[in-house]
Amino acid sequence: MPTDPAKLRIVLYPDPVLRAKAKPIPAITDEVRAVAQRMLQLMHEAPGVGLAAPQVGLNWRLFVASPSTDPNDDMVFINPVLSAPGRELEDYEEGCLSIPQVTGEIRRPKAITVEAIGLDGATFRLTSDELPARVWQHEFDHLEGTLILDRMTPMDRMACERQLKELETDYHGKSKRR
Ligand code: ZN
Repeated sequence: MPTDPAKLRIVLYPDPVLRAKAKPIPAITDEVRAVAQRMLQLMHEAPGVGLAAPQVGLNWRLFVASPSTDPNDDMVFINPVLSAPGRELEDYEEGCLSIPQVTGEIRRPKAITVEAIGLDGATFRLTSDELPARVWQHEFDHLEGTLILDRMTPMDRMACERQLKELETDYHGKSKRR
């Protein structure tokens, strides 16, 4: 197995993997299943309501989400596609597990449809105009290399400048020590 799921960790801004466009998953292998389980675990530990594969350093089109802390609500989305964005837009404060202590009001369509493949290999389609719709759009952005930093207002972006600089210093400091 090329990826050891136990070794996966949440990677932080400005790791370049967060900026890459992720690639479709060709087949649902044991590796994919194990990675998805590990991602759900990391998401709950964080705690968060969604986590995309680039956030654990994998260039895969996969994200996991759970609108609650109940493991029964855990969902895995493989090769997801968004469609039918609602015309109504909504501002909502978002954070990101890869950009700690940074939040911003992000405007997105309130309603969206997602179609994806589940771990069982079956394609499913869901529509929401509540928190899941927000999470799906945020996580899908990660697969395109888009972060909340790209979508926040100039005011919010300015307000987090200092924290971003700190994250950049941490990241580059760490890579220099290696
Ligand atoms: Zn995020």
